[in-house]
Amino acid sequence: MLKKNERTLRPATAMVHGGTVRSGFGETSEALFLTQGFVYASAEAAEARFKGEEPGFIYSRYGNPTTRMFEERMMALEGAEDARATASGMAAVAAALQCQVQAGDHIVSSRALFGSCRYVVETMLGRAGVTSTFVDGRDLAAWRAAVRPETKVFFMETPTNPTLEIVDIAAVAEIAHEVGAVVVVDNVFATPMQQKPLELGADVVVYSATKHIDGQGRCLGGVILSSKEWIDKNLHEYFRHTGPSLSPFNAWTLLKGLETLPLRVACQTKSAGTVADHLALSPLVSKVLYPGRADHPDAAVIAKQMTGGSTLVAFELAGGKEAAFRFSNALEIVKISNNLGDAKSLITHPATTTHKNLTPEVRAELGISDGLLRLSLGLEDIDDLLEDIDAALAAI
Ligand SMILES: *Cc1c(COP(=O)(O)O)cnc(C)c1O
Repeated sequence: MLKKNERTLRPATAMVHGGTVRSGFGETSEALFLTQGFVYASAEAAEARFKGEEPGFIYSRYGNPTTRMFEERMMALEGAEDARATASGMAAVAAALQCQVQAGDHIVSSRALFGSCRYVVETMLGRAGVTSTFVDGRDLAAWRAAVRPETKVFFMETPTNPTLEIVDIAAVAEIAHEVGAVVVVDNVFATPMQQKPLELGADVVVYSATKHIDGQGRCLGGVILSSKEWIDKNLHEYFRHTGPSLSPFNAWTLLKGLETLPLRVACQTKSAGTVADHLALSPLVSKVLYPGRADHPDAAVIAKQMTGGSTLVAFELAGGKEAAFRFSNALEIVKISNNLGDAKSLITHPATTTHKNLTPEVRAELGISDGLLRLSLGLEDIDDLLEDIDAALAAI
C-alpha cells in the first residue's frame, strides 16, 4: 500500500522516495531481495499467509519486496491504485489484454502499433477465438463504427511508433465507456512524465520499462497499472498462474532508473525539440513530425493531453532510402539501433527494421516511407548532437 503522502508528492520527489520499504538495517538505497521464496516461523504462520489472513510474501512469482517497491513507485507516479511489474513490455501488453478476454470477445485497436503488440492482438488472441478490428486511431467515427455487441477492449498507443501520430485518449475512452469496453493505453512514447492516461479516462496503462524507465539500456521490464478492482478481478490470478513476473534484480535496476526519470525525460525532450526545429530548416528534410511543434497535424489534441513533446523525433529525408542510409551511416555520436528512451541517442530506419514485416501497402497507410527515420534523443550535449546531425546531412 502506498503511504498516504505518496499520493500527493510531486513527481521528482515521488521518484526518489515513493514505495521505499527499509529492512531492519535501515539501508539508504533500496534493498535487493534476490530471493525466490520466503520462510515462515511456523506451520500456523504459513497457513495464515496462504489464507490471506496475515500479510507477507509467499513466492516471487506472486510478489517480491523489491519488485513491490518498483510497483509502488510507479503507482505514485501514475496515480494508480495498484500495479503488477512484468519481465518485459510485451509481457505487460500480452497480460493486460489476455487476462480480460475470452473466445467470442472482440477488441478494437488503433492500427499504428508496435509490431509485437499487433501480433498479440491479431494473431495470438485471434488463435484463442478473440476477434479484432484495426482503425485509424485519429478517426473517432472509425472507433465508433468498429464496435460490436461483443466488444470488450479498446487498445491504443499514443504517440504512435514510428510516426508520432496522436490518438485523443479522452474522446476514445468516452466511446469505449458508452459500450462498456475497457480502455488499455500503451504509454511508452509519452512516458509517465508527459501523459496521464488514467486521468484522461483510460482504465489500464501499460509500459515497456525497458525504454525511459530504465533509460540506460540495461534491462527489460514492464508494468501494468490500473484500479485495484480491475487488477483483483482480471490480472491477479492470471499473473500468479502464468508467471510473467519481473526479476527482483531488474526491479532494483528500474527503481534506480526512476530516481532520474524526471531529469532525463526533461533533458531529452528539450534536445528533441531543438533537433526537430533544426531538421525542419534543412532543404534535405521533407517532413518533421514532432509532438512539441506547432505544425504537428494533431497539435490540438496534443495541447489537451500531453505536457511535453516526447523524446523522439520522426523525419523524412527527401532522398528516400538511399539518403536515409547515408545519413544514418555518417552519424558518429548517434548510434543505429531499434531501441528508444536510452541515455544514448539512437536512430532507426523503420521501413527496413522494426516495420519491415508489414506489406508496402500497410507501411504506406501508416506513413512509413523509405525516407523516414526515427530519432530517440539521449543525454549527450546538444551541440555535439547538432554537429553530428549536420555532418550526416552534409554526407547525403
Ligand atoms: C518497446 C515497446 C514495447 C515492448 O517492450 P519490450 O520491453 O521490448 O518487451 C511495447 N510497446 C511499445 C510502444 C514499445 O515501444
